[in-house]
Amino acid sequence: MSFDYDLFVIGGGSGGVRAARISAGHGARVALAEEYRMGGTCVIRGCVPKKLMVFASTAPAAIEEARAYGWSADAGQFDWPGFRGKLDAELDRLEAIYRKGQENAGVKVFDQRATVSGPHEVTLADGTKITTKHILVAVGGRPFVPEFPGCDLVMTSNDIFKLDILPQRILIVGGGYIACEFACILNGLGVQVTQYNRSPLLRGFDGEARDLIVDQMQANGVDIHTHVVITEIEKTENCLKVTCGDGREDEFDAVLYATGRTPNTEGLGLETAGVELGERGEVMVDEWSQTNVPSIFAVGDVTDRINLTPVAIREGHAFADTVFGANARPSDHELVASAVFTQPEFGTVGITEEEAEERGNAEVYVSSFRPMRSSFAGSDARVLMKLIVCRETRCVLGCHIVAPEAGELIQMVGIAVKMGATKEQFDATCAVHPTMGEELVTMRNPVRHY
Ligand code: NDP
Repeated sequence: MSFDYDLFVIGGGSGGVRAARISAGHGARVALAEEYRMGGTCVIRGCVPKKLMVFASTAPAAIEEARAYGWSADAGQFDWPGFRGKLDAELDRLEAIYRKGQENAGVKVFDQRATVSGPHEVTLADGTKITTKHILVAVGGRPFVPEFPGCDLVMTSNDIFKLDILPQRILIVGGGYIACEFACILNGLGVQVTQYNRSPLLRGFDGEARDLIVDQMQANGVDIHTHVVITEIEKTENCLKVTCGDGREDEFDAVLYATGRTPNTEGLGLETAGVELGERGEVMVDEWSQTNVPSIFAVGDVTDRINLTPVAIREGHAFADTVFGANARPSDHELVASAVFTQPEFGTVGITEEEAEERGNAEVYVSSFRPMRSSFAGSDARVLMKLIVCRETRCVLGCHIVAPEAGELIQMVGIAVKMGATKEQFDATCAVHPTMGEELVTMRNPVRHY
């Protein structure tokens, strides 16, 4: 049977565009459909605009520090509309680069929604039916907001980049990556931030690291309340009135929900093609990103494995090499380093101390101190460097860093950890002085054994 294409990719985000470009490079005839904007969540309403907002939000602290170093400087007022205009222009620029990358690779891009109408067929929103040897589902996820009276009054992370004006008082609900990052960003931009979560913040991350982050978020002015659940939100004349399960009430100009994300599979036609979905609507795939329907594959957040851009990119690349490049390789989900762009930043790879305690046979090395730069400026802020080491093999099993630029640091440490470096190999690496990172190669004695 002849098909219109060898591969049809649904979704122009990180995983989809990488898979399409590499497959086309391997000689496949490839098409891709995107219903919104090329680049997906990461570029259009996630990592990229978020990181630019992080940069904007850290300026007042940098200026305060500059004053402590002898400069006369004043942050003045933040021009949100001015910043947003530049942000929009930057996203337009990046979107154009993503589109060009597809076109240069020979990928045909359809700017409309596509749904799966059979194991080898997709249907475009305009009704066109296209046959294809393989389908790759790379449609990502969308914010999840629980149902309760007034839930339609809240914003999600999708809305924050489009605000005309910044609210004066915001409530952020959730305790994961997105909630904590936006709590810090908006606090830095001068918004009065309150954060509610049903459990402790950053659950699942190393406990000592997240305690330090929460302490410093509070010291920086974020008003954090855990074990709180909202039961109702009402619109009053000037604001939103929030009522919680424990009876507390408060008023805010805006409420942002960051309570997780849901795979974007609703109405995609996957059930009609016989593709198995999980409880949360995620596409069930094996290590090759292949579904139970052999011609249909899925990568990225829609599979709800590790929901990070670089992971989606690697899954898309591995798929393309396997199916079209005669270089079969499964996706590798071991020892993925990541960063939470809170203030202070958090970089992490491998097992947490809690996991080490459960596993046993481990040593924990910790160094926590006031770094030279901020301590000279009179700040009490601390950093934390932690290594978890297997007592038997001496391999470093986990590293957790709470510090300025921890994301940059963990990227480098991640290489050593992925290579299986031992504590003694860390120690054999000469320190770079004076840096914060030198602590990672100079910690002599374990503070805890399991
Ligand atoms: P997370 O899964 O990280 O956090 C969700 C938070 O919402 C948790 O604190 C959770 O509490 C709470 N929650 C979940 N359901 C409910 C509910 N029904 N009612 C009240 N609270 C609830 O999701 P995010 O939305 O923060 O981020 C989504 C994903 O995006 C992340 O998993 C991450 O993979 C990715 N991401 C990565 C970033 C990075 O790499 N820097 C940045 C942003 C996003 P509990 O702990 O009790 O479950």
